[in-house]
Amino acid sequence: MEDWIRDLPKVQLHDHLDGGLRPATIIELASERDIELPATEEDELARWFFRGADQGSLPRYLEGFATTLDVMQDEDALRRVAIEHVLDLAADGVVYGEVRFAPVLHTQHGLDPGRVLEVVLEGIGSGCEQTGIDVRVIVCSLRHMAPEVSLESAQLAVGFRDQGVVGFDLAGDESGHPPAHHNDAFQFLRRSNFNITIHAGEAFGLSSIWQAIQHCGAHRIGHATRLVEDDSVAGDYRGTLGEYILDHRIPLEMCLSSNLHTGAVRELKDHPFPRYLSEGYRVCLNVDNTLMSATTLSKEWQMAVDLFDLNIDDLEQIAINGMKGAFCEHSCRREVIQKLILPGFTAVRRRPS
Ligand SMILES: [Zn+2]
Repeated sequence: MEDWIRDLPKVQLHDHLDGGLRPATIIELASERDIELPATEEDELARWFFRGADQGSLPRYLEGFATTLDVMQDEDALRRVAIEHVLDLAADGVVYGEVRFAPVLHTQHGLDPGRVLEVVLEGIGSGCEQTGIDVRVIVCSLRHMAPEVSLESAQLAVGFRDQGVVGFDLAGDESGHPPAHHNDAFQFLRRSNFNITIHAGEAFGLSSIWQAIQHCGAHRIGHATRLVEDDSVAGDYRGTLGEYILDHRIPLEMCLSSNLHTGAVRELKDHPFPRYLSEGYRVCLNVDNTLMSATTLSKEWQMAVDLFDLNIDDLEQIAINGMKGAFCEHSCRREVIQKLILPGFTAVRRRPS
């Protein structure tokens, strides 16, 4: 990977805490807690996660999370993972990030979801203090969960809005689990003037994206890879959904490697990302899960440069798109663009080649 790409100021909106642990940390946490792992050597464990993920299916991609979740069930582990996550983002040149996770998945040893969230926010805060970067949190619920659980998670997210929680996400396997099942949560979030993003258009097509925006009130879409089908399928919203997303500047959190690994695209060269970018959609690039996809945001940017022949101006647009789509307050978005992104790109452009 080229240094200049790592040094550029980046923004990341779609990044799962439980999909981004360091393999060495998993090994240490597991051994302290007598948890058995499929491999106990760092590289081997990293390969195990990647092999599990790279099978062209979203349900299979999600299997590795059982292992990361196993080691994230107590306060010390959660705090450590959260701090390291921020340190890793800073080392990768991320200046603003939003990290997501589902507090209810970390209660196996008796923590309550509110305490889980508190501890993760402490860890994130301490990572931000150490690095000077800005990282916020998105609370997730999962599609297969009961609607009441989603409502409780939504209430939790809103309850922590002054402590760094900026949004709510619905994640998990799309098939057979339409987002509208979780309507109570979305109604509550909208009444609370809270931010919503939804994973859609990854394993499922247009109807999933349409439902996320028009039924559930999503302000951003995670993936939206299959929005491209808007040109070719029949239906009530033929052609107009893409226009709506473009006209309303709805940010699309796109994840190249992850889409390849889950089978959302067959080959990266056919990914619709460059098309969305050139057509003016508010698209940005994201890792989804650094561990499962064996990636970093710099690697994703490098991949986009190599595959789609992007230049530094395109990357600057991607960073600005990301920041315009961020869920932090408007003054923060402006400040990051004016004080970090624009000067950071100018500095790299001025470097002697
Ligand atoms: Zn995701």
